[in-house]
Amino acid sequence: MIFDSLTQAVASIGMLQKYYPVTRIWDGSHKQMLYESEETDNPKEAPVSFEGFHEATFSIRENDGLLEIVTSIPITIGGQTCCLELIHLGDMRTGSTSLEHMQKLAITDPLTNLYNRRYIDEQLPIDLERTFRNSDPISFIYADIDFFKKVNDQYGHIAGDHILKQIACVFLRHIRKKDGWVARYGGDELLVCLPELSRNTVVKIANRLRHSVESKRFYINDIHIKITCSFGVQTIDKTSGVHTVDQVVELMDKKLYQAKKKGRNKVAL
Ligand code: GH3
Ligand code: MG
Repeated sequence: MIFDSLTQAVASIGMLQKYYPVTRIWDGSHKQMLYESEETDNPKEAPVSFEGFHEATFSIRENDGLLEIVTSIPITIGGQTCCLELIHLGDMRTGSTSLEHMQKLAITDPLTNLYNRRYIDEQLPIDLERTFRNSDPISFIYADIDFFKKVNDQYGHIAGDHILKQIACVFLRHIRKKDGWVARYGGDELLVCLPELSRNTVVKIANRLRHSVESKRFYINDIHIKITCSFGVQTIDKTSGVHTVDQVVELMDKKLYQAKKKGRNKVAL
C-alpha cells in the first residue's frame, strides 16, 4: 500500500480499528513509532484495500505480561518504507496446569479477562498491609464508563459487552504488570491498584487512561461511537486509617462522584 503522507495512511487504516484493538505505524528501521491508534485524535476514515499486501509477517510477543499477536505489513509513506502493525491482545498464560487454570478462572472476570471482585477482596488487603509495612503509599484509580446504560439501551447488551472488553484492553495496555493490577469491580466499574508508585505518576496514568478511552475509536457494527470514562484517584498511606476493601471503595466512590458531577470524562484527584 502506498500513501502520500502519514495523515493519509492513518485515515486509510481507520476502519481496521474495528477489527484490531491496536494499530501502529513504525518507520522503516522500526525505531520510531509514527502512529498508535489509541493515542491520537480520531483520524478521518477512508476505504482501505487489502490488495497488494506482500511479505506480511505474523508474530507473537509478550509485552509486560500481555500477549500481543501482531501482523506486520510493509507500507510506503511519502516514498519511505514503513511498517503497519495490526495487533490483537491475548491471554499470556500458556502451558499452565489444570489446577493453575482453575485458580486463574476463579480470580478472572470472564467478560473482560481482568481480575474479578474475588481477586480484589483477596489481594487488596495484602497490598495494603505490605505497602504500609514498608511505609510506602498505595494508590487507586477507579473508573466508571459514562452513560453506559444509554449504550446498552441504544445498541443492545452484546454491543455494550464489546465496548467493555475494549476498554479493558486499554487499561491492560497502560498498567504495567510490575506496577500493579486492574480488576473489574462490577458492572461498568474498574479498579486499578498501584502500590508504591508516586502520586504524580499515578495521576499521569489516570490522565493517560482518560485520554486513551476518549480518543479510541469504538465501533458497533459499522457505527463509530464515542465513549468516555470518569476517574477517581486516591492515594493512601499508613496514617490514613484505611485497612479494608470497603473503606477503599467508599473513598473511591466519593472521588468518582466528584468526577461525574464535574461533567464526566474527568479525573477527580
Ligand atoms: P454514569 O455512570 O455516567 O452516571 O451513567 P451510566 O449509564 O453508566 O450509569 P451506571 O454506571 O450507574 O450504570 C451502569 C450500566 O452499565 C448499567 C448497565 O446497563 C451496564 N452494565 C453493567 N454491567 C454490564 C455488562 O456486563 N454488560 C453490559 N453490556 N452492560 C453492563
Ligand atoms: Mg457508568
